[in-house]
Amino acid sequence: MTMLNIRYEKTTAPKELPKEDNPLKFGTIFTDHMFIMNYETGKGWHDARIVPYAPLSLDPSAMVFHYGQEMFEGLKAYKTEDGRTLLFRPNKNIERANNTNRRICIPEIPEEDFLDAIKAVVKTDEAWIPTKPGTSLYIRPFVIATDPFLGVRPSDTYMFIIILSPVGAYYPEGLNPVKIWIEDEYVRAVKGGVGEAKTGANYVASLAAQVKAHDDGYSQVLWLDGVERKYIEEVGAMNIFFKINGTVVTPKLNGSILPGVTRNSVIELCKTWGVPVEERKISVDELYEASNNGSLEEVFGTGTAAVISPVGHLRFEDHVMQVSDGGIGELSQRIYDTITGIQLGDIEDTFNWTV
Ligand code: PMP
Repeated sequence: MTMLNIRYEKTTAPKELPKEDNPLKFGTIFTDHMFIMNYETGKGWHDARIVPYAPLSLDPSAMVFHYGQEMFEGLKAYKTEDGRTLLFRPNKNIERANNTNRRICIPEIPEEDFLDAIKAVVKTDEAWIPTKPGTSLYIRPFVIATDPFLGVRPSDTYMFIIILSPVGAYYPEGLNPVKIWIEDEYVRAVKGGVGEAKTGANYVASLAAQVKAHDDGYSQVLWLDGVERKYIEEVGAMNIFFKINGTVVTPKLNGSILPGVTRNSVIELCKTWGVPVEERKISVDELYEASNNGSLEEVFGTGTAAVISPVGHLRFEDHVMQVSDGGIGELSQRIYDTITGIQLGDIEDTFNWTV
């Protein structure tokens, strides 16, 4: 199956698989193996291997700990009813990973090797893919800078690692509308910065606002543009969509928004269905007006973790915007059912999204 030459060192102490009734809380359980490949200037990417999942040994001066040169990705594998394993649009994640790599001076990973590595490690731990409705195997590829050096420059050595985590249904009781806080004090990213890259810096920049929002009973932060502080960008780990007067609107990718794979899938689905979609600037004022005049029909976030996350309530400064009746919109539900149906092999994949 693989062109990448992978060395296997299987665990001699396999862990017990999670029990049927384990809720598989997101990101807490890890499988038996991981993929690792090293990079060295002059030598390139080498020594691809699948080894037992275990702590890493790194020099305390490793550059990643000090200057944050790291890339990460997130995608999922699903088990179909007839026992096949499907990845959802992995090439989109690989392409985005290399875009991130270029932005933060990490050497690119050949696309085919990247996909081979994902397939090989998922196959190795295939028994860990949960099968209950809504569950999946979350795949976390990442690269870290490992030069033992204190000084700001691109590292000469890196590790590319893929770990796997079985995850439960994001909303075990079905889609559940969330409350969103529109942040007016902190900024996540600016054009020209690293906002459109998937790197830790963006997430650490989001923590203070997230803590503030949580303290106020809000589950996620919605970011505004960093210059005018007027236009909607994205949520903490999701892109955002609004259905206003029958038209689906999502912020245009502007350099400070992460280009979500789910975002792209939703746009393609809407186009196929003949639902009008606009990628453009959308201001908080426009939202506020739409919510006041009753034309704000649906709001939902999109991302790998939850696929679709309906939003029932948005707050900006002292204003609360209630979305329609606060329930789950018809389009949100239809998109969710279609994407998850394709991911699980229950709906014909006319887009060729699954691998
Ligand atoms: N925005 C941010 C900041 C994210 O971290 C994510 C999750 N990767 C998304 C959007 C959604 O992207 P995707 O649909 O590829 O998961």
